[in-house]
Amino acid sequence: MSLEEYRGKRNFTKTIEPPGGKVGGERIFVVQEHHATHLHWDFRLAIDGVLKSWAVPKEPPTVPGVKRLAVQVEDHPLDYADFEGEIPEGEYGAGSVKIWDRGTYEMKERTSDKLLFSLHGKKMKGEYYLIKFKKAGEKNWLFFMKKGNAKQ
Ligand code: MN
Repeated sequence: MSLEEYRGKRNFTKTIEPPGGKVGGERIFVVQEHHATHLHWDFRLAIDGVLKSWAVPKEPPTVPGVKRLAVQVEDHPLDYADFEGEIPEGEYGAGSVKIWDRGTYEMKERTSDKLLFSLHGKKMKGEYYLIKFKKAGEKNWLFFMKKGNAKQ
């Protein structure tokens, strides 16, 4: 199961994060601003019943021309899309999490090393690429808006 890594990293008697269990095929995305050891933004896309997840070290792009590194991390349960709060000191990912943006999406193209999707959020609106950036490492992707696709 794809949530084993997620569950293996966490102690659910200590963290208030969800162990997961929700099922569904919703086309949603969420971005969580995570004040961990290093501030980052977690971009999550509901695909195949889980939230495929990437940690983005800088604020995600909201205009074309901005390229961000996005490091793929373990799949998260769908329930995580609603999570906000404080992960306790000493636990995995300790620090505060708050929702930075969320909405629905449509997948336009999907291969093992390229995703093209349209986001309908408050901050993130328009077509986005996530493209594997193998030179920089197996889990590294580039995240940017499709050119000529300004805010709608
Ligand atoms: Mn995080």
